[in-house]
Amino acid sequence: MNELKNLPSVDRLLSEAALHSLVAEHGRTVVTDAVRAELTFVRESVKAGAAPPANDAIAAAVGRRVAAHMRPRLQPVFNLTGTVLHTNLGRAVLPESVVEAVARAARAPCALEYDLETGGRGDRDDVVDGLLRELTGAEAATVVNNNAAAVFLLLNTLAQRKEVVVSRGELVEIGGAFRVPDIMRRAGAKLVEVGTTNRSHLRDFDEAVNAKTGLVMKVHTSNYAVQGFTAAVPEAELATLAHAHGVPFVVDLGSGTLVNLEQWGLPHEPTPRESIEAGADLVTFSGDKLLGGPQAGLLAGRRELIAKIKKNPLKRALRVGKLTLAALEATLALYRDPERLPQRLEALRLLTRSEAEIRAQAERLLPAWQAALAGWPLDAAIAPTLSQIGSGSLPVDRLPSVALVARPRGKRSGVLHKLEEALRRLPMPVIGHIADDALRLDLRCLNRAEEGAFASQLHFPPLEKGGLGGFKLAASDAIRQQIPLDPPFSKGEVE
Ligand SMILES: *Cc1c(COP(=O)(O)O)cnc(C)c1O
Repeated sequence: MNELKNLPSVDRLLSEAALHSLVAEHGRTVVTDAVRAELTFVRESVKAGAAPPANDAIAAAVGRRVAAHMRPRLQPVFNLTGTVLHTNLGRAVLPESVVEAVARAARAPCALEYDLETGGRGDRDDVVDGLLRELTGAEAATVVNNNAAAVFLLLNTLAQRKEVVVSRGELVEIGGAFRVPDIMRRAGAKLVEVGTTNRSHLRDFDEAVNAKTGLVMKVHTSNYAVQGFTAAVPEAELATLAHAHGVPFVVDLGSGTLVNLEQWGLPHEPTPRESIEAGADLVTFSGDKLLGGPQAGLLAGRRELIAKIKKNPLKRALRVGKLTLAALEATLALYRDPERLPQRLEALRLLTRSEAEIRAQAERLLPAWQAALAGWPLDAAIAPTLSQIGSGSLPVDRLPSVALVARPRGKRSGVLHKLEEALRRLPMPVIGHIADDALRLDLRCLNRAEEGAFASQLHFPPLEKGGLGGFKLAASDAIRQQIPLDPPFSKGEVE
């Protein structure tokens, strides 16, 4: 086949002017690999009967391959899902002051495990121990990778080969991977369930506690609510019972927030201080849920229990790095000035934004939204919606908000999925939510400063009538070019 022979060589292509700048930007290795992959693809297409492309077309395809290959996988997105603390989108967004603290810790050496008073070795937990004691009323505290790790370490340290008494109504599953019964088993503790799904009484616990009991535990039912004919034993009564039998009472708070959220019109979420005041010997909670900080698991409580936990060799395996500690210290420091928290703690700022403010924003953005959807069989509008807090926090509570909405004209719900895809393929992907035959972009989490960037990228390729009565994006206009899955790019690297 002559046409195959006439295809340019790798070296010939690399000397194309268009590829010089690619090499300057990304290096010879990446561009050469992309050239090889593109040539393999072109050779196969020519063998299959396609016309051989011109060199500049091949160079352009190489450019798209390199761009797709080099694009960071951890891309920033607009979270317009209506879920403020979205686990799949990284939970709490950190305040700028916290981001600066992380950058400082990353840039230069820091006194992570170094005591600047004595010049001796320090303990990394000391970075936040004082703040956590101050903010929770606990005697001591420690930090691990996330709350799942905190619960695991607590059980493994204090209840290995012992029984842990928990109400049947609290055997929660968080996002599939964290299930209280599984974590217990892996930690070497034996779960003893008491009561029923909807009601547990003090006598249920009383009958279950015996010489084999290691802990009495309460797990906050963070991502669901048991409503109706229900009963749970107050923490203070569980604490008294546990202490009468000489065992600790521990509470997995899940989210946990350090202040009473009701002062800002949000629903009440239990705080570590409340549990500790009620008699809990240890509490665990997440750093990146309502607390609004980095991913971390916090343990706070009695000094001797924290000391035991810190001596467990698994603590070393579950510890956090300096970037997390820097973020956590800076986040916790904001809680020293609770009055200004809603302005300074980004997660709380988003949760407390007023409906009126979000509505004004929606009105500013409506013209851009309507213009973007002009070529689509969709009605663009704004409408009230309800945001959720997310991350399993306060599962039944909703916050009034306003969304940009797209509704199909007639029965064409498939078009909503095309729109959802087009939004995902924007330079800064926009993640919305489809429900009740409409796609909604809840504007609660769109910052004023980002409004312009959001609106100016809202251009979708026109729709082509596809087969089977569906719609598809016109290939020539696809904003992010689809790349054939050829070596050396693995499936995982190319969408
Ligand atoms: C979220 C949650 C966890 C897990 O916390 P992570 O920080 O996500 O590991 C554990 N227990 C409860 C009750 C939770 O709500």
